[in-house]
Amino acid sequence: MDKQIILKNVDFIYQPDLPSEKQALTNVSLEIENGEFMAIVGKTGSGKSTLVQMINGLLKPTLGEVTVGDIKINNQTNNHNLSELRQKVGMIFQFPEKQLFEDTVLKDVAFGPINFGDDEPTAKTKAIKALSIVGVSKKLYDRSPFELSGGQMRRVAIAGTIACEPQILILDEPTVGLDPNGKNEILKIIHQLNEKGVTIIMVTHDMDVVAQNANRVVVMNKGRVSSDSTPRELFANPELIANNSLALPDSVQIYYDLVHDGIQLSQIPLTANEV
Ligand code: ADP
Repeated sequence: MDKQIILKNVDFIYQPDLPSEKQALTNVSLEIENGEFMAIVGKTGSGKSTLVQMINGLLKPTLGEVTVGDIKINNQTNNHNLSELRQKVGMIFQFPEKQLFEDTVLKDVAFGPINFGDDEPTAKTKAIKALSIVGVSKKLYDRSPFELSGGQMRRVAIAGTIACEPQILILDEPTVGLDPNGKNEILKIIHQLNEKGVTIIMVTHDMDVVAQNANRVVVMNKGRVSSDSTPRELFANPELIANNSLALPDSVQIYYDLVHDGIQLSQIPLTANEV
C-alpha cells in the first residue's frame, strides 16, 4: 500500500519565544496509507487539532517534516506552495455549518471548486455531484442554507468540502450536536467516501464511532502519540483507556469486566453484528 501521509519527528510550538509559548506536539511520527479510516482520540488539549492541521498545511511543523503525496511541508515551506495541498486534503471543522455564507445552497457548495480554479459550469457540476452524495434534495439548491435544519446545514457544509474532490478528508468531531439519526446519516456518507478510496482521518470523542468505523486509532497524550493500534487492541487495554480518560463503546462496556478475567482480544465484540 502507498504511504500517503508521513509525519517525521514533528514538533509544533504555538507562539514560540513568547511567554505564552506552548509546545503542542512532540516528536510525532506517523505513516498513513491510502484509503485508511483513522480515528484520533485523546483528552482535550492532547494535540489532536494541532496534529490534523499539520496534514493540510494550516500549520507548519516547527521541527520535522510532513509529506503528503509528493508535497513536503516543513518550517521553510512557503504558503504559496500549499494550494495544491489544500485541494488534496479536505478539512471539515467542528460545526462546519458555521462556515456557510452564500445566499443559496448550490452557490455555497460551488464556492470551493471555483476558489481552486474551476470555471462556473465545472464547479456547478461538482457541487451537484457532492450534494447528491450527501443526500441534499434538488428542491433545496436555490434555498438559503440558513433556512435549513441543523442536519441539512451540516450536509451542505460537508458537500462544500467534498465538491473539491479531496483524496484525504479530515473531520474534527463531525457528528457532535446531531441526534442519533443525523449522526448515522453523516457516518454513512463518510463511509461511502472511504469505500470510494478517500482516506479518512477523524478526530472524535465518540468511542462507538471509533469501534464501528475506524480500522486504526491513534491516542494522543500531551502532544505525543501514546498508542497506535486497531480499535480492538485499544479497547482491550484497560490501562490505556483509563490513562487517557477514554470512554468505552457501549458494545464493549458489557464485556469489559471480562477483560480483567483474561478474555481474548478476538472475543470482544465491537459492533452490534458481532454481539
Ligand atoms: P486537542 O485538539 O486535543 O484539544 P489542541 O491541538 O487544540 O488539542 O491543543 C494542544 C495544546 O496546544 C493545548 O495545550 C492547547 O492549549 C494549546 N493550543 C492550541 N491552540 C493554541 C493557540 N492558538 N495558541 C496557544 N496554544 C494553543
